[in-house]
Amino acid sequence: MLTAFNYYEPEEESRIQTGMKETSLFEQEMNVAERFTRIHYKAPAGRTKCVVCGSNKILEFYEKWGVKYLRCSDCYSIMADVQEEDVEEYTHLKEMRDIRLSDESQRIGSESRQQRWKELLDWLQYRTFRYCGRNTNFSILDYGNRWKGLSQLLQESALCGKYELRDSILIDREQDEDAKAEPADLILALDYIQQKIKPIQFFREVHNNLKKDGLFILGVKAGSGFDILTLRGNNKNTFPYEHILMPSKEGISVMLVQTGFELLEFTTPGTFDLNYVKANKDGVAEDDYFMRYFLETATPGAEADFQRFIQKRGLSSYAQVIARRMD
Ligand SMILES: [Zn+2]
Repeated sequence: MLTAFNYYEPEEESRIQTGMKETSLFEQEMNVAERFTRIHYKAPAGRTKCVVCGSNKILEFYEKWGVKYLRCSDCYSIMADVQEEDVEEYTHLKEMRDIRLSDESQRIGSESRQQRWKELLDWLQYRTFRYCGRNTNFSILDYGNRWKGLSQLLQESALCGKYELRDSILIDREQDEDAKAEPADLILALDYIQQKIKPIQFFREVHNNLKKDGLFILGVKAGSGFDILTLRGNNKNTFPYEHILMPSKEGISVMLVQTGFELLEFTTPGTFDLNYVKANKDGVAEDDYFMRYFLETATPGAEADFQRFIQKRGLSSYAQVIARRMD
């Protein structure tokens, strides 16, 4: 049961299932992001090194809303060539916070995600038991969570003894700056490092805030994922400045090792990638003849095999990572 963990299916699936209201909220968010990008983005920052592995072999990959996305030829991670201060401004954009904090958005989001959040909790209990020998009463530091419903569910669960939110729209900035976390047993960063232009610095912060042998649980859009690489700038689920970093599987591993973690698990549980690409097949590159051929001719059985392969081999676009603090 728990191996079929399905928490972070691409948001797209949730929107299709829950209908128009969530779609319209998502479109509002996307419009805010696009407006912000078109005003702020003047020119590439001129990045010459991969923010994940440090390699200078970074090549332009695609452009979205005028923003250039680069791809590292050594570690396969994808990053936007943007200025750090613009990212900072985007993450505190009032207009976006107002939409996301609205009662309507929190309510609809909670309703559509309730089942997945419960599955997330089951998965965390199962995994913590496996790696820590217990699954109750952990101190949890939760980075960037923007859902009241999820925060509440975590706090009320047996998994949690102590809970602290960090860098979240659910708490105000001053409260955040005053925070002095005790080292935690578990650190969650779900959909968080997508906005980090200095991910290694964040991994170091996590290391410092985690007890020895504590677990770092990461949920991230992976730049090695099928729909990211196939749809590139035409992927509606990834856009500036919401997603400026999509590290690959290899990139995540490099950063973890460099900052004192042991990678315990990397899985991509997605079941929807192929359907998503199929629904957006006009976005597949003109010269991607294999994909165009496959999408036009594959039988339902072949499609199911393809999706299973992607999921099983860690090639789906949403990655869940568990790492342990060493030393
Ligand atoms: Zn790299």
